[in-house]
Amino acid sequence: MNQLADDCFNQVDDLMSTAEALAILRQRIVAVTQDRLEQLPLAQALGRILAQDVTSVLDVPPHDNSAVDGYALRHDDLVVDGPSRLTVLGRSAAGHPHDGRLETGQAVRIFTGAVMPEGTDSVVMQEDVARTEDHITIPPGLALGANRRHRGEDTRRGDVVLGRGRRLRPQDLGLAASVGQGQLNLYRPLRVAVFSTGDELAEPGAELPAGAIYDANRYILVALITALGAKVSDLGILPDDADAVRAGLVAAAAGHDLLLTSGGVSVGDEDHVRGAVEALGHLHFWRLAIKPGRPLALGQVGNAAFVGLPGNPVAAMVCFLRFARPLILGLAGAVDLDPVLYRVTSDFDYEKKPGRREWLRARLERQGGTGPSAVLFRPQGSGIINSLVQTHGLVEIAEDVTRVKAGELVDFLPFDEVAS
Ligand code: AMP
Ligand code: MG
Repeated sequence: MNQLADDCFNQVDDLMSTAEALAILRQRIVAVTQDRLEQLPLAQALGRILAQDVTSVLDVPPHDNSAVDGYALRHDDLVVDGPSRLTVLGRSAAGHPHDGRLETGQAVRIFTGAVMPEGTDSVVMQEDVARTEDHITIPPGLALGANRRHRGEDTRRGDVVLGRGRRLRPQDLGLAASVGQGQLNLYRPLRVAVFSTGDELAEPGAELPAGAIYDANRYILVALITALGAKVSDLGILPDDADAVRAGLVAAAAGHDLLLTSGGVSVGDEDHVRGAVEALGHLHFWRLAIKPGRPLALGQVGNAAFVGLPGNPVAAMVCFLRFARPLILGLAGAVDLDPVLYRVTSDFDYEKKPGRREWLRARLERQGGTGPSAVLFRPQGSGIINSLVQTHGLVEIAEDVTRVKAGELVDFLPFDEVAS
C-alpha cells in the first residue's frame, strides 16, 4: 500500500472532532427509559438510575447528639479560669436517651451518638476529666458546643438529597437509607444487544480453527455495559455475510433499545455491518479525528439505536468509553455523562500529528514526592489487549498538541472512572 493512500489523516478537514461528536451525541440523546419506571428496595438499586428526586422528610441527625464518649454539661456552669466540679446524674447512651432535665451543676454520662439531654450544650471527653464516685473535675478551656453534633447538620428536612438521573453509588444508598427511604423509583434498565462481527472469530473455550482468533471484544463490551446498570443480551458473533448481519440486527431491534457491534464498519469488502444498517434504517458514518479508532457508526434500526465500534479491541474499548458510554448513560436516563479527566505528569516524550485526539495506555507510578506519573505501555498497537490490562488508564492528548515532553502535565482518564 502506498504511503499516501495509507495516510488516512491527510484530509483532516473531513474528520469530525471528539468535541463535535460528543456535542452531537448529547443533543440527540433522549432518555428512552423516561416512561419505564420501577420501584425497588434500596438494596437492589446499586448502579441503577434514579427516576425521581429523593427528598428528605426529616432532619438527619434527627436530634443533637454527642460526637464522643464523655459527659454532657451546661457550658454556663464551668469556671472560666480554673477546674470545674460537677455532679454526674444519669446517663444517655445511643438509642437510650436520658429523660429529665439538667439542673445547674450537673452533668450526664454520655456516649457517642446518644441524644444530648435537655439543658446540656457541650460534651467533655471522658479522657479529659477526673472522675471520683459521682463527681467529675474538668480542666478549664472547654469550648461552648464542644463535641456536640447538631440536629440536621447532615441533611435538613426538605433537602433534595439525590437528584433524578443520578446513577447510584454505594454511598448514595447509605444517604437514601439515612433519610428513611426504603424503596427508590428507578428507570428500568436500558436493554442493549451486543454482537461481535467477523468470520475469523471463535468462541473462547472452543478449539481455534485455522486462521481464526478468539473473540475478545464481546467480553469487554458486555462487562462494560453491565457495569453501567444496563441489561445486556450477548448475541454472539455475526458472520461476514450481509444477509446474516441484516437478519441478526432486525431480530435484535425488536427487543432492545440499543444494538452495539464491533468490527465490520471500515471500508473493506468484508465489512457488512455498515451496509446492513444503511439498508435497514439510517446510518451516520462518522470519521472521527481520533487514534485509535476512527470509524464510528451511529444509526437506527427499527426503534433501536445502533452503534458500530471499530474491530480492534483497543479501539473498540476506547471508542466505547469515550462515545458509546455517554450515549448509553444518556439513553438510560442518567444526567452525568462525562467522565472526569485528571492531570498527571507525563513520564515520556511523545510526538503526534496535529488535528486528531489520541489516547495512550499508561500505568500510573509515584516517583519521588510528586504526584502520579504516566508511564507508557509498549507496544501501543490497537490490537494489543495487554495495553489495556497492564495499565491504569488512558492519557488523552488534545488535537492541537504535537509534542508532549516528559515532566509536562497531561490529561488522564483512569479505567476505574469509566470501566466499573
Ligand atoms: P474489522 O473492523 O472487522 O476489519 O476488524 C479490525 C481488526 O479487529 C481485525 O484484525 C479483526 O480481526 C479484529 N477484531 C474484530 N473483532 C474482534 C473481536 N471481537 N475480538 C478480537 N479482535 C477483533
Ligand atoms: Mg471484520
